[in-house]
Amino acid sequence: MTMAYQTQFVERLERTPTSTAVSYRFKRPPGFDFTAGQYMVVDLGEERIHPLSLSDCPEESRFIEFTKRMTGSPFCQRLEELTTADTITVKGPSGKFCVEESDAPLVLMAGGIGITPLRSILKSQEKKRTTAGSIILLYGNKNQEDIAFREELENLQLADYRLVHVLDDPAGVENAYQGFIRGEIVAEEVANPTKALYMISGPTGMVEAIKKNLLKINIDEERIRTDVFLGYD
Ligand SMILES: Cc1cc2nc3c(=O)[nH]c(=O)nc-3n(C[C@H](O)[C@H](O)[C@H](O)COP(=O)(O)OP(=O)(O)OC[C@H]3O[C@@H](n4cnc5c(N)ncnc54)[C@H](O)[C@@H]3O)c2cc1C
Repeated sequence: MTMAYQTQFVERLERTPTSTAVSYRFKRPPGFDFTAGQYMVVDLGEERIHPLSLSDCPEESRFIEFTKRMTGSPFCQRLEELTTADTITVKGPSGKFCVEESDAPLVLMAGGIGITPLRSILKSQEKKRTTAGSIILLYGNKNQEDIAFREELENLQLADYRLVHVLDDPAGVENAYQGFIRGEIVAEEVANPTKALYMISGPTGMVEAIKKNLLKINIDEERIRTDVFLGYD
């Protein structure tokens, strides 16, 4: 059964240089347990309700956090009005976009704000330090201004981890690929592509396009997990 929790707003943090992605933190409600990669349904009242991934890791006991791409919608407007006197309702956690126990190489692929569940997974792996295999993050964005959590993701303390930027406009980002995340990049960056596990997260069109690309380079469908962010197409 999905549980509902009341939780008090704590703070907001801007995650890109141009404030296009903002994290909102709330006190962690007693009994709210989740696995990295899951989402919750956030209810701000007045029918402003969205599913949003938990963007911090379960090991963070002080707060829960989600990160919203700012679109100027009524939901975003309400978020920007929150003060520490406000409480909201969250329902969950839900979802199965979680890391399986395996020593296969893990290939994480995010388009834009799709980074949120993957950031939770990466931070959790960093805290646990139990990863058996390598991790590579292929992170697609428009340009350097649009890369959420950039510094943190570039400096994660994980034994065998690499971040590869893929940008429409790669100016200012060293060693970035130009364009979209595609099969040739996977073939070039992943040592044994058919042996890896893939987790793709982002807007519907992007997730479908990457999945098609993976199938084209003979990745078994069973090795691919997806998290589709409805509401951005
Ligand atoms: C599992 C999951 C996890 C998500 N995690 C994140 C996250 O971490 N960060 C983030 O920014 N977004 C996330 N989203 C998307 C989020 O729920 C919103 O749909 C999106 O942020 C757009 O909301 P908005 O307030 O900006 O725009 P809105 O004006 O509310 O929506 C834009 C358009 O999309 C339609 N729409 C909105 N929500 C949905 C929906 N759920 N299904 C179908 N159509 C819809 C609206 O009718 C409107 O036409 C997630 C979605 C899912 C399903």
